[in-house]
Amino acid sequence: MTYAITQTCCSDATCVAVCPVNCIHPTPEERAFGSTEMLHIDPRTCIACGACADACPVDAIFPADSLPVAQQEYAAINAAYFEDTAAAEAPEPDPAGPNFHAWGEPTFPRVLPADFAPLKVAVVGTGPAGMYAVQDLLLHTSAEVTLIDRLPVAGGLVRYGVAPDHPATKKVGETFARFHAHPRVRMHLGLDVGTDVTPEEIAAHHDAVIYAVGASADRRLAIPGEELPGSISATAFVAWYNAHPDAAPDGVDLSAERAIVVGNGNVALDVARILLADPDTLARTDIADHALSALRDSKVREVVLLARRGPEHAAYTKSELLALKHLPGVDLVVDDHDPRIAEAVDAAGAKDKAAVLQGVTRARPDWDLAPEPGRRIVLRFHCEPVEVLGAERVDAVRVAAEAGERTVRAGLLLRAIGYRGVPVAGLPFDETGGTVPHAGGRVEGQPGTYVVGWIKRGPSGGIGANRTCAAETVSTLLADAVAGALPAPRHATKAFHRLVRRRNRQVVDARGLAAIERAEVNRGASAGRPRVKLATVAELVSTARAGRGGLLR
Ligand code: NAP
Repeated sequence: MTYAITQTCCSDATCVAVCPVNCIHPTPEERAFGSTEMLHIDPRTCIACGACADACPVDAIFPADSLPVAQQEYAAINAAYFEDTAAAEAPEPDPAGPNFHAWGEPTFPRVLPADFAPLKVAVVGTGPAGMYAVQDLLLHTSAEVTLIDRLPVAGGLVRYGVAPDHPATKKVGETFARFHAHPRVRMHLGLDVGTDVTPEEIAAHHDAVIYAVGASADRRLAIPGEELPGSISATAFVAWYNAHPDAAPDGVDLSAERAIVVGNGNVALDVARILLADPDTLARTDIADHALSALRDSKVREVVLLARRGPEHAAYTKSELLALKHLPGVDLVVDDHDPRIAEAVDAAGAKDKAAVLQGVTRARPDWDLAPEPGRRIVLRFHCEPVEVLGAERVDAVRVAAEAGERTVRAGLLLRAIGYRGVPVAGLPFDETGGTVPHAGGRVEGQPGTYVVGWIKRGPSGGIGANRTCAAETVSTLLADAVAGALPAPRHATKAFHRLVRRRNRQVVDARGLAAIERAEVNRGASAGRPRVKLATVAELVSTARAGRGGLLR
């Protein structure tokens, strides 16, 4: 018996570190790590000790012989990785069996002087990137951390980005939550940098500041009609079903039978899945109450995904498409409008992305008609929107393909073409990439200021990609500290905490956050749900306040 890594792999490589026989690849040291969609266990060397399964932050690792039905393909997917030339970096197994005592030369990428004083570091943003940086600082240095978020609750995209029907992925939040109440962390949630405090004030009270603010805006299609009612960004839709306080509960109209999603990244797949998933299944998740009730009344039964490239270049990961094939009650269909699509799917080798579509129904839907009965997701490759049509709201989308332009009737358009970073007060900004220019995480021209996550490298990569990204930023920060290159803070960090209290009495701390957590979990318990989220700033703040006996620091 061996273990296998499955759909929810976050690739943060926690498993790699605990494997006693180095059977999980690619490792962060291997070139393929930068582009892999998931990690794989080599069945030839796995000794089935289960250490990886215990350590996995998202419950993605199971014994290969007891995989749930929908995950059974993963035994072969893991094994196939090691037959592939792309895995050439993975070492051949030792014919004598695993050698527990084969140690390599020790390397010490970070060496801190013995008398290194604890650094005072502010981290702005409590999503995965910020929290991996915090974890690194707390576990590997004696740093004291000030943790800031503009919302009165922590989590970033773990709370507001991960789809509600992906509870295993959300589990990584428990790993991060360990650090919220850490004795060397002081948390200020609901504190807006730029309004409540300036970047200069944060810098003046800390040795270093790490911005982990993500990419909160969305890319634009720049086509006529994009602003019509009924055309919304996937970013807004995701925020809506995840109970983000900025999303209006009645902000999504689901009265149309057909929805078009532009883009075919994992966000596009998430929104398509949520639009068609069985509401009774969603009712067991932490989906926003307003979204659940709108989805129960939804008329949407067909979702068309428009992708400008072919199935061999799809932006989604294989694992997410595989999951879509198993979505109960929803058919997956490929629009066969362009001969290149069938060619690419038929020619795909077993490990190619397009191979996942082998055996999937092909059809040529008549886009002038209402959708056929039943619920289905249609993948339309080699096709781009050129205009959104409608007098009052979206009625149809004109699309361009090899065979020319045509119109697809649809009443809802979701733009899932990627997130975009927004300028951070006081930091330089690269308008082209929507990122902050940096070298190894150090913000250009601003000693003591660092970036991590999507605002550093752009909006790509799942949760786990932030772990290595954070390690790089923290390493740069520590090297700068050792080199004496950090500007000395002008004020004590304690003075910053007093300043915060003067500026914003509603700021939530670790105890307030724990009160929110308790309240949400309690609300969910009676309904058999993991939690029912508080969906407004007012509710979050008052719950934190009540939980702290009416006092907020
Ligand atoms: P993404 O993976 O970059 O996909 C963006 C999609 O938009 C691509 O299909 C892209 O097409 C298309 N696109 C961009 N500009 C376009 C235009 N002007 N016209 C038409 N199509 C356009 O972005 P994402 O889906 O927002 O995901 C962001 C990151 O989060 C990804 O790394 C993703 O894997 C990760 N994520 C992971 C999960 C998960 O693991 N379950 C869930 C959500 C997000 P091209 O490919 O042709 O450029």
